[in-house]
Amino acid sequence: MNSPRLDQPPYVADRLAWRRRASLPVRIGSLMVGGHAPVVVQSMCTTPTQDVAATVAQCIRLAEVGCQLIRITAPGVKDAAALGDIRRDFSAAGFGHIPLCADIHFMPKAALEAIEHVEKVRVNPGNFADKKQFAVLTYDDRSYAEEIERVAERFRPLVCRAKELGRALRIGVNHGSLSDRILNRWGDTPAGMVEAALEFIDTAEGEGFRNLVVSMKSSNPKVMVQAYRLLVARLDVRGTPYPLHLGVTEAGDGEDGRSKGAAGIGGLLEDGLGDTIRVSLTEPPEAEIPVAQALARRYEPPPFSAQGVPGAPTERLDPYRYQRRPSETLRMPGADGQPVVIGGGSLPKVLVPHFRTTTSNVLAADVVLVDGSLWGAVPRLRGRRSPSERLPIKGLDGALVQVLPISDDHFEAHPPGPVLFDLDADDPALALDAAIGRLTAPTLLGIGDPGALGATRAYRLLAAIIEARWHRAEAASTGSGLRHPLLIALPHERDPLAIAAVAGGLLIDGLGDALYLPAAEDPTRTAFTVLQAVKARVTRTDYVACPSCGRTLFDLMEVTEHIRSATNHLDGVTIAIMGCIVNGPGEMADADFGFVGSGPGKIDLYHGKERVQSNIPFVEARERLIQLIKDHGRWKEPSSV
Ligand code: SF4
Repeated sequence: MNSPRLDQPPYVADRLAWRRRASLPVRIGSLMVGGHAPVVVQSMCTTPTQDVAATVAQCIRLAEVGCQLIRITAPGVKDAAALGDIRRDFSAAGFGHIPLCADIHFMPKAALEAIEHVEKVRVNPGNFADKKQFAVLTYDDRSYAEEIERVAERFRPLVCRAKELGRALRIGVNHGSLSDRILNRWGDTPAGMVEAALEFIDTAEGEGFRNLVVSMKSSNPKVMVQAYRLLVARLDVRGTPYPLHLGVTEAGDGEDGRSKGAAGIGGLLEDGLGDTIRVSLTEPPEAEIPVAQALARRYEPPPFSAQGVPGAPTERLDPYRYQRRPSETLRMPGADGQPVVIGGGSLPKVLVPHFRTTTSNVLAADVVLVDGSLWGAVPRLRGRRSPSERLPIKGLDGALVQVLPISDDHFEAHPPGPVLFDLDADDPALALDAAIGRLTAPTLLGIGDPGALGATRAYRLLAAIIEARWHRAEAASTGSGLRHPLLIALPHERDPLAIAAVAGGLLIDGLGDALYLPAAEDPTRTAFTVLQAVKARVTRTDYVACPSCGRTLFDLMEVTEHIRSATNHLDGVTIAIMGCIVNGPGEMADADFGFVGSGPGKIDLYHGKERVQSNIPFVEARERLIQLIKDHGRWKEPSSV
């Protein structure tokens, strides 16, 4: 069994085994979530809720592409009442088996109306009963307890009615909209997110109600993964493993949005966590479903060994707190002829094989690998390459990459060129330990074939063995321990979602000094996209864009494109584009600048979390945003890039 050494209880029994978490079954209409049910995919309508015909039409489109649960915003009581008409017409169209969920912020009255009509209601603990928005307040223990009781009083009627009607509730925490009370005591942290959920869970359980689903969303996949893990650990201790709704908020669109969603959601599915998922994209909601289905399908039937690795050393990383794994520094010949530093806390690097180089790959990649026994593995994925086709790239002095079976005790490594181990032995922990022991200099290490473990667990094992060897050497005062840097290599993986789930999940755990994705359609771009998704290395403009919903105050897709067309040359700048401020400025915590709907035809601009301009007419807003970026010295003219 391999549980990290921590003060916190573990969130899974063994991080080197893949087992689906055993959650409580929750009934949502005729749909089961949790228990042994397959992962449910869901989405959210973007139409104005009171436009019943448009909303029903969008629900039908979602159902027809396989959406199993549909959320609809209910900003006010009239919207909540419209849910009755939507439910009626959607059922009449033949979709009575697909449950609807009302999305509530600020409005207990709307929640009480909605629960009459739909199978599930989502409440946000950060704003369910709070009108004050994002004020800095101080609470002593007494006023804190009074505040909890005040909120519980507002929540209890909904719980009681849900119990009477046999409905489900989702306690949907958002990192960006934690209450003043939680922020005061816990700060803007995963631990605070968990406390916010537990306060509402306590109230529900106090009424004997357990038909609950819980979510811990953030636009930052690292925060989101840590919050879900902490929640699971706390719920397991309480003996109430409620099912989890997984999602990354404000992920944006296109490959960046998919990659962020896959890194966060896929990273948790790699842990065996998650009962229902929503991939938020700033695109028509139907586009979310195939992405969610592809992620869920990867784990059904269970794809990896549930047995763990006998004799594996204990991992020393803290899965609840981000810390980059310490490693030795290496220098490898770079694509531009200059040496590239790998490991030692430097920014993660991108390696590409010479047979996949294109002009853009060579220009962008940090290192081009021009030779090596990886060719032995290549025919499995490419089918037609042969060593005679290895053409040296003129002017590039690349490093050797080798794929070595751990069962081969005569191998000769050529550091610092990467060594990828095939886990081909019956006792992988022992054999890998012995193989690493034969290295006499810092070497960039990765996994070639992970075997039944799957890549995530194989890399965890590799990191744990390197670390254990280093600690043994330190304890013995031999001074010969080597913390070899890690190369996250997925030599056979072509699917960008799978790549983001595995590589992103490992980076979220602080593992990985370089990426090597030779089978991806564009190995360089895919690697930089994954690094950007988990904020390990931001190399192009990053857009934190909400998926839009019935609250959206402008056409989000059009506006995102409008802003992107003027700003997508700004390397390393993060811009948040939000349909409204319901999830709070905290949701833009990682953004340098924010563009937020504040009313019909009006925009607020933010610098970081601070609102710096209010109620700007929409037609002026993009130019004002550009001026704001210039004022803060982050602008470059497109021609100068
Ligand atoms: S931020 Fe976007 S998705 Fe969230 S409530 Fe506002 S408009 Fe809807």
